[in-house]
Amino acid sequence: MKLEIKGIKFSYGSAPALNNISFRLEGGEVLTIVGPNGSGKSTLLKCIDRILKPQRGCIMIDGKDIKGIGSEEVARRMGYVPQSNGKSFPSTVFDTILMGRKPYIRWAPAAKDLKVVSDVIGTLELEEFALRDINELSGGQRQKVIIGRALAQEPKILLLDEPTANLDLKHQLEVLNLVKEQTRSGVSAIIAIHDLNLALRYSDKVIMLNYGKVFAAGGLEVLNPENIEAVYGIKVRVINHSKGIFVIPEEFIGDKNS
Ligand code: ADP
Ligand code: MG
Repeated sequence: MKLEIKGIKFSYGSAPALNNISFRLEGGEVLTIVGPNGSGKSTLLKCIDRILKPQRGCIMIDGKDIKGIGSEEVARRMGYVPQSNGKSFPSTVFDTILMGRKPYIRWAPAAKDLKVVSDVIGTLELEEFALRDINELSGGQRQKVIIGRALAQEPKILLLDEPTANLDLKHQLEVLNLVKEQTRSGVSAIIAIHDLNLALRYSDKVIMLNYGKVFAAGGLEVLNPENIEAVYGIKVRVINHSKGIFVIPEEFIGDKNS
C-alpha cells in the first residue's frame, strides 16, 4: 500500500485550514502529525478519509485517486478513529466492532465477519466486556473498542485522531503498542498526536503542521528544539538517552540561560 497526498488545500468557508499539503507514506510505517491546536491535524485526517473533500489536490492510494473509489472500498482500505468526545450511541462492544465489517457485509454477517470480530475482541482483550454497552466502559476501554471497529475493517491504513487523549499512561502505551503491532503486518498508521515524547517513541515519519501548512517533515529529527520553539513558542531540550529520545521543556529543567 502506498499513500500519496498531493497539494491538498481545504477551507471551511473562506478560512483556509490546509494549504498545499503533500507527503507520501509506504506500507508498514507510522506517520505522526504534530502541531498546535488548530493547525489542521483533524482536518487533514478527515480529508484523507474523504469525510471532507479538499478544494484542491488529490489523495492517491496505490496510484488510484480516492475520488474515483466507492465508499465501501475506501472503508476496506482505511479505518478512521475520530477524536473521542466521550459519548457514544448505545451499542455493545460486539455490535460496535461488528460495524467495522459493514463494508464487507451485504445484509447478514458471514462466518468470516464473525471470526474477524471475535479475533479483534481477543486481540484487544475485551472478551469479558463483549456484551457490555460501550457507554459503561472506561475511556481507555471505549477507545480500544473504537480502534477495534477500525481494525475489523481490515484496513491497509489506520487514521487515528489523538487516540491517546484522555487515557492514563498505561492505556496510552497499550493503544500505541497495538497500532505499532499492526504495522508489522504492513498496515500503515497516521496518528495526530500532541505528546511529542510519544511521537518520538512510535514514529517512523513526522509531519509538523503550523497554520495549515507543513512546517517540517521527515524522520524524528523534525522534533528538534528549533522547530518546536518556532511552532509551539516554547524552549525545549531534546535529550538522546540510551532508551530513546525525549523532549523536555526548558522550564522543567529550570535553566533559562541555555
Ligand atoms: P487541529 O486538529 O490541529 O487542532 P483542526 O483541523 O481541528 O486543527 O482545525 C484547523 C482549523 O480549522 C482551525 O482554525 C479550526 O478553527 C478550523 N475548523 C475546524 N473545524 C471547523 C469547522 N467545522 N468549521 C469551521 N472551521 C473549522
Ligand atoms: Mg484535532
